[in-house]
Amino acid sequence: MSGNDAAKTTKIGVWWDMKDCPIPEGYDARRVRPSIEKAFRKRGYTGPVPITAYGDQTQTPCHVLRGLSSTGVAVTHTTSDSTRSVMYGDMVEWRGQNPPPATIMIISDQVEGDLSWDLARLQQRTRYKLFLAYSSKPCDDLFLNYNANWRWEKLLKEEEEGAPTSAAVFYCKTCNFICQCVENFRKHLSSDEHVLEEAIDPPDTRLSCVTKTWGRNYPATPEHATAKIHVLWDMDDCPIPEGYDARLVRPSLERAFKELGYSGPVSITAFADHKDIPDHQLLALSSSGVEFAHTPPWVHYNRMITEFEEWTEDNPAPATIMIISDYVASSESTSALICIQLQKSNYNCFLAYSARPFELPVLLTSAEWLWESLLAVSKTNRHILQKCSGSERVVESGMLSCLLCIFDCETLDEFKEHLSSKEHTKEDNMMNSHFQSAHVHRRLNKIANYYHKARYPPPKTKRKREDSTLEGFSP
Ligand SMILES: [Zn+2]
Ligand SMILES: [Zn+2]
Repeated sequence: MSGNDAAKTTKIGVWWDMKDCPIPEGYDARRVRPSIEKAFRKRGYTGPVPITAYGDQTQTPCHVLRGLSSTGVAVTHTTSDSTRSVMYGDMVEWRGQNPPPATIMIISDQVEGDLSWDLARLQQRTRYKLFLAYSSKPCDDLFLNYNANWRWEKLLKEEEEGAPTSAAVFYCKTCNFICQCVENFRKHLSSDEHVLEEAIDPPDTRLSCVTKTWGRNYPATPEHATAKIHVLWDMDDCPIPEGYDARLVRPSLERAFKELGYSGPVSITAFADHKDIPDHQLLALSSSGVEFAHTPPWVHYNRMITEFEEWTEDNPAPATIMIISDYVASSESTSALICIQLQKSNYNCFLAYSARPFELPVLLTSAEWLWESLLAVSKTNRHILQKCSGSERVVESGMLSCLLCIFDCETLDEFKEHLSSKEHTKEDNMMNSHFQSAHVHRRLNKIANYYHKARYPPPKTKRKREDSTLEGFSP
C-alpha cells in the first residue's frame, strides 16, 4: 500500500467553526455529517470521520443540537471570539495522538494569518492530508499546501444515505463539562456556575502558535544524516567577505553540516551577476566544486526557485535543501513554492542569511546560520579544514553556467569567451532593455509571478496540487 493509499483509510479529523460556516436556514442538521463523509468517500477516503462543531452553543437551537448529536457530531461550547484558538489547540492536540498518515479538515473562514503560518510549519514536520472548507473567505495564503478548498454550502449538497450514528457528546470548553443529552447541556450553559466561569476564566482568544519555539539547530535524523544536501546561494545577499578565501566556502559549509551529523554529498550553486565577481573568486569557487550560475540580479530569486524545483524532481526526499539568501528567508511569497514542497515531501531545510530575519520564516528549518559566522568557522580552523578537504576526497571542479543563455562550461576561459560572445551580448542587451523599464517594479512583478505560479501550478502532473480539479475547488 502506498503512503497515499494509507492516508485514505485512516482517520479524518474535522474541526468546524459553526459561526463562520453555519448550517443554512432550513437545512437539516442531521445531514451535515453524511455530507462531509460523502465528500471524502467520493475521493476515495474511507476512514472514520470524527467531527467536532465549535461555537457559542447558547445561540444554537435545540433541534440543531439534537440533529448534530444524533449523527455523532461532537458539539463543543466556547465563546465566539475564542472559537478559532480553541479549535486550533484541539487540532494540535489531536495531531499528537494521531500520527500520520491521517487527514485533517478545517471548516472556517479564519485560516489565513497566524493559523496558516503555524499550520504550514507543522505540516513541514509532520505531514497530514489537509482539506479546508470556507463559506465566504477562502484561505489565500500561498505557502499553505492543501488537497482541496471546498465551499461549505456546496459541500453540504453532497449527501449519503444511512449515515452511521454514535453516542452524542456535548462539551463545554469553559468548564470542561461533558454530557450526553441536550437538556443537560442546555441546563449547564444557563447555570450560574457556567456563567460565572465564563466571566472569570473564558478560553484564551489568542491563537497559540506551537512552532514559534522551533528555531534551533537540530541534530540530523537518521534518514537525513547521509542524504544529499543541495545549497542555493545568493551571492548578492550573502557575498564572500573582503579578504576571505573563496575556496573555504565549501569546507566551511561541510564542517557546519558535519557538526550537526550530516555527512551526505553536498552540491552548491552560487547565483550572481558575473560582473560583480572577480576572476580569482570564480576560479576559487570552481576549483572547490561550487557551481557558478550567472544571472542578472532581477531574476536571482526566480532562478533559485526554478533550480530548487528541478532539483527536487531529480532528487526525491529524504534530502536537504539549503537556501543562503536574506530575501528568500524573510519573504513569505518568495519562499511559498519551497514551503509547499516541504509540506508535500520529507525534505529538510537549512537557511543562512547575512541578517537574522525580523520574523520567524514560514520555512521550517532544521538549522539556521548567520552567513558570516558560518564562514568564520573555517577562519579559526583554517589549516584543519584545508587538510580535511584535501585529504578526504578529490573535489570535482564546479561548472560555470550562464543562465541567460543556458550555457555550461568547465573552465574560466571558456566562460569568459562565452560572456564576450555575440550571442551572449545580444541576450544580455535584450534582457536589459526588457527589464529596465520594469526594473523599479521588479519586486512587485516577482511577487505577482509567484502568486500566479503557486495558485495555478504549471500543468506538469508532478507539481500539480492533488485533487485540484475537484468540483468545489476554489478558483
Ligand atoms: Zn460551562
Ligand atoms: Zn550567456
